[in-house]
Amino acid sequence: MSSSSSVGVFLGSSHGTNRAFAHATIELGTALATRKIGLVYGGGAVGLMGLLADTVLDGGGTVTGVIPANLFSKEVAHRGNTELIETDGMHERKALMYERSDAFVGLPGGMGTLDELAEIATWRQIGLHDKPVGLLNVDGYFDALIAWFDRATTDGMIRNAHRALIHVETSADALIESLLGT
Ligand code: AMP
Repeated sequence: MSSSSSVGVFLGSSHGTNRAFAHATIELGTALATRKIGLVYGGGAVGLMGLLADTVLDGGGTVTGVIPANLFSKEVAHRGNTELIETDGMHERKALMYERSDAFVGLPGGMGTLDELAEIATWRQIGLHDKPVGLLNVDGYFDALIAWFDRATTDGMIRNAHRALIHVETSADALIESLLGT
């Protein structure tokens, strides 16, 4: 994998109440910066999103934020990003995030994170891209979602081959290794 790879990360615009989330976010940001893998994310300065961007930048890494111009208030956009791209809406934003990334990682978050993860996994299974998708299962945060993936597979709603496309790891290093082989 070349040094110009980028990983698209979906994660909370809130910090959440579990300190393990911040630790994992810092672990992932450090792992990306150390490997010179660029971060592509939603462009916010808030919550875990802001923490991840700050960690990558502090580690000397590259951050591309992609944010809809009129949807979030100006204070929410992270002005320190290496590149901050403003889009016309959520659809253009997601398409650009997806285009700019070589792999995708979901960290703890809420509905926005779930939406982005579900969409990128759907796009993978219908063949719109062939990029790997992974979950960093911090402190069992995604256990219930993973159990649902398995139930949906058992009940014939998700094909085995599609279920196998979602990598799950508990450490950032292991997840990057599993997604990008580096
Ligand atoms: P949530 O998980 O609901 O906190 O939403 C986080 C995800 O939705 C992120 O990956 C972002 O792409 C997007 N998002 C939600 N809120 C914001 C925000 N204030 N600024 C930028 N992106 C956001």
